[in-house]
Amino acid sequence: MTENLSSQLEKYLPRPVLALAKIAGKEASELGLYLVGGVVRDLFLGRANFDFDMVVEGDAISLARRLAKDSQAKLTIHSRFGTAKLNYPGFSFDLATARSETYSKPGALPTVKPGSLKDDLIRRDFSINAMALCLMPHRFGELIDLYNGKDDLDNRLIRILHPNSFIDDATRILRAIRYEQRLGFKLEAETEKLLRRDATMLDTISGDRIRHELELILKEDKAELVLWRAGELDVLRQLHPSLKGNGWLSQKFEQARKADIRASLSTLYLCLLIYNLTDKENERFISRLNFPKNSTQAMRHTLQLKSQLHGLANLQLKPSDIYQSLHSYTTTAIHANTLASESAIASQHLQLYLTKLRYVKTLLSGEDLKRMGITPGLQIGEILSALHKARLNGEIRTRKEEENFVHSWRQRQSG
Ligand code: ATP
Repeated sequence: MTENLSSQLEKYLPRPVLALAKIAGKEASELGLYLVGGVVRDLFLGRANFDFDMVVEGDAISLARRLAKDSQAKLTIHSRFGTAKLNYPGFSFDLATARSETYSKPGALPTVKPGSLKDDLIRRDFSINAMALCLMPHRFGELIDLYNGKDDLDNRLIRILHPNSFIDDATRILRAIRYEQRLGFKLEAETEKLLRRDATMLDTISGDRIRHELELILKEDKAELVLWRAGELDVLRQLHPSLKGNGWLSQKFEQARKADIRASLSTLYLCLLIYNLTDKENERFISRLNFPKNSTQAMRHTLQLKSQLHGLANLQLKPSDIYQSLHSYTTTAIHANTLASESAIASQHLQLYLTKLRYVKTLLSGEDLKRMGITPGLQIGEILSALHKARLNGEIRTRKEEENFVHSWRQRQSG
């Protein structure tokens, strides 16, 4: 018997989304319009998901144009992919033409041509992501579940759709582990066997695509579970043989979340992930995954600072010494070392820098110094830096004290 989820859809979808989904379904009633992928999975699981992916058995772009004309949606078209995005205030619909995909060789991007809903579902990664819900008025809410995704959801299993799935596209290896850990599911036995068999196929995937999957992993609420499992399945070593998803990493990720940092948590995770690599290994990892400039800098700085930590594990250091040692490092690298350092003293110094020292500024500016009669040029920089140092060390606190400091500096110079 076909299952109908219209009442669940009415409850799950926000009102304006539901209203527009019905309008879209009506507009495409001759063709066939379906809600697909993650949103269907999450509707069953009762998890929020605002990625409204729709597939039409026909031209998605002309359907999107018609819908945009009749509403206030902003339309973005990707002609190359036959997809369109309708942006409404507060949410968006992604519309794609149903398509079939074939892979000329493992890891290649697929050759795509228009197809049926069935073609579009079989090209997907896992059974739980390959369900569709009809949006046409006469079949509104009807579930299309060709690969028993609903049973797999009930049994909490991640299952690929055919035995060559990981060979065609090895990014699915990382996706499988990510969903397994996010949802607290298990890899279905045959899927796990094939995943272990095909783990080396990750070599066929470009650095950019692997990095994208790693970034998705690092955005998960419990990214450490995914990395731990990837380690256990011998997958993490495909990204770099020295990466470890162990208890140490899990503990550091948890601490990172609690630390309430202002910088990007994903970049901090990345710096912790590479913390036990050598510089050479780190460089190989950076070039394999083609990390962008910002991440690369944070990763390199993390290891450079790690090699300097012994100097910071010294109780005699003045605040200005700590500032001097740290001010040229990216904040994320300092955070990573604060969490990962084995020396409590070094960690305290790093923490002092992050919470206080980096914000210390002189009250007097270069302009103030000029007004006080200091000749513009090198001298100004010299005095400002001496003032800053004295301020860091708590030797001066008020504007008056800063002015006195400048006067005595001048007297020393002229005397
Ligand atoms: P998430 O909650 O992680 O965003 P999602 O299911 O919405 O999950 P997307 O990455 O947005 O995931 O992809 C949308 C859909 O496209 C998936 O549900 C899946 O059906 C399909 N898909 C994505 N990546 C692949 C892939 N590598 N191979 C096959 N199908 C894929």
